[in-house]
Amino acid sequence: MLRIGTGTDTHRLVEGRPLMLGGVHIASDVGGEGHSDADALTHAVADAILGALSEGDLGVHFPDKDPQWSGVNSLELLSRVMWLARERSLRVVNVDSTVATRIAEVEVLYRRNESKHCRGCSALRLAA
Ligand SMILES: [Zn+2]
Repeated sequence: MLRIGTGTDTHRLVEGRPLMLGGVHIASDVGGEGHSDADALTHAVADAILGALSEGDLGVHFPDKDPQWSGVNSLELLSRVMWLARERSLRVVNVDSTVATRIAEVEVLYRRNESKHCRGCSALRLAA
């Protein structure tokens, strides 16, 4: 059986927060506002997997009112979602993602070192 999920995520960028994308810290004057580390890429991938599992979204599993998720590394959330997939004997075969941003540092980083933006991908592999 093939299941397909889609996920999107956005976070307002504010000063004084780290910018995390796909588990990678990107040097920037601004970062995502949010309860966790506000890693929009990792959140979108996790949401897509939850959608494929018919398990709601990240807010259902990791509510922003719950202090245990405050400042959490989103790769931890993704790992927990992958555990849920394994529990249902499902595995992630492919992830295709697009990051839209006006922050130039993101584009430079992704072009310069493709391996860096695979931390989230290795979390997928490790957990699968
Ligand atoms: Zn998010």
